[in-house]
Amino acid sequence: MTPQVQTYKFFLNGKWATSTETFELINPASGETIGHVPRAGKEEAKEAIEVARKAFESPAWREMEQTKRGKILMQIAALMREHFDEVSKLETLNQGKPLRESKADVAWAIRVFEYWGGAADKIQGETIPVTPNRLTYTLREPLGVTAHIIPWNYPLALGTRSLAPALAAGNTVVAKPAELTPLTLLKVAEFAQKSGLPDGVLNIITGSGSVVGRELVSSPNVDGITFTGSTETGHQIMETAAKSITPVLLELGGKNPNIIFPDADMQRAVQMAKYAIFTNAGQMCWAGSRLFLHEDVYEKFLGELKKQTEQIKLGPGLDEKTELGPMVSKEQQQRVLGYVKSGLEDGAKLITGGQTPDDPALRNGFFVKPTIFADVSSTMKIGCEEIFGPVLAVFRFSKAEEVVRMANETQFGLYAGVWTNDLKLAHRVVGALQAGVVAVNDYLVAYPQTPFGGYKDSGIGYENGLQAISHYTRIKSVTINVS
Ligand code: NDP
Repeated sequence: MTPQVQTYKFFLNGKWATSTETFELINPASGETIGHVPRAGKEEAKEAIEVARKAFESPAWREMEQTKRGKILMQIAALMREHFDEVSKLETLNQGKPLRESKADVAWAIRVFEYWGGAADKIQGETIPVTPNRLTYTLREPLGVTAHIIPWNYPLALGTRSLAPALAAGNTVVAKPAELTPLTLLKVAEFAQKSGLPDGVLNIITGSGSVVGRELVSSPNVDGITFTGSTETGHQIMETAAKSITPVLLELGGKNPNIIFPDADMQRAVQMAKYAIFTNAGQMCWAGSRLFLHEDVYEKFLGELKKQTEQIKLGPGLDEKTELGPMVSKEQQQRVLGYVKSGLEDGAKLITGGQTPDDPALRNGFFVKPTIFADVSSTMKIGCEEIFGPVLAVFRFSKAEEVVRMANETQFGLYAGVWTNDLKLAHRVVGALQAGVVAVNDYLVAYPQTPFGGYKDSGIGYENGLQAISHYTRIKSVTINVS
């Protein structure tokens, strides 16, 4: 059944607002219109920053006890739990991912708010012993107004990942979800309103990156920027923020190595190699998009992976049996198919996929069959660029030193997987990999309490874990002469 087309509003100063222009939201599984969202402009973005500034200075938020702040975040988590199914379905309808993945995202968002709800009254300074006649200590203060630019691949999970610590630390927030996928973040605004968050503390403005996003990152009245998205846009944002010396937390692209040594548990490694690239149709910064197979297991592993990949069930995410949903948009689908073409032109060997599905029921959706290329090299586009689709590039190696060199032969350094039962080898390879996060005998593992950030062009700063607080606070160092 086609859901009713809805008209949405954005959230400014504790109220629901609209603007003269709107944009259309499309269900990626069917190409049908599911809603209209206001296209806020520069003026609304400016207003949101002003509103957030006033809220930051108001006693309602500034003087709120940290414990109470934490309780509000806990209440947001509780409301999200109450509306678990509704929010999960909304994420799938808007973004396209299979429902079970959306459920995992909602469960993550709940845990994130609970984690930061609990952390809110543990954000503190320290005393520093200097000399007996001086008392020296640090105060950890919120930055002020923080801007959050959210991508379309994990609208809820990545949105809440940065909003929750910013609020826990006492900032006020202006967030801009991606134009393609604003719906679940607007739900968070609704829960925040019901949880007693003072007006103006959280503002969610729907609009384009080139207008609202640009205004947020170039405003001298914004005190901190969090961005997740492409490396290209990340570069632009850092350059813009440099003009006003605004701190940035950037989580950017990846071309992540997943390395299989011959002594690994093959059954699990195959399953996880599939999961690492085909989850969310490969639209993940931490996708295991480069698979390095040791020559001793190359043929067998690839054969089993091909077999399992061809059994993956494509379909609309709302169908509980679906394992692989559509790309988020027609544009992304075409982009991915463009990479497939370049792989063929560059001489990589297509093992499976590489096309849109034949099933007429999927014709209007933005699907791409799960795709595997073998005999890939780091100089091919499919071997070094972030595709952000269900396309796996397979490489062959024979020695640990060689695979480390190949794995590091990229502009990115976000995530890596290492599969071996040899503890010494694992330890050595983990140490040599240029990646901010490494999983051994696992893949796609993250917790609200573990820091997540990239090396090289994959970003700067850390999301998750108490380390994230360093981006959302500044330190004031105080010395009192007590002699
Ligand atoms: P972008 O990096 O352009 O978009 C991510 C977010 O940034 C969106 O909210 C977008 O708004 C906003 N934005 C865009 N331009 C600006 C700007 N100048 N100033 C401030 N905000 C801006 O990614 P795309 O959507 O264009 O996707 C292209 C490719 O980027 C993908 O194929 C993928 O490779 C990569 N990507 C990586 C992500 C990751 O998690 N690492 C996430 C998303 C994309 P809006 O879309 O509303 O215009």
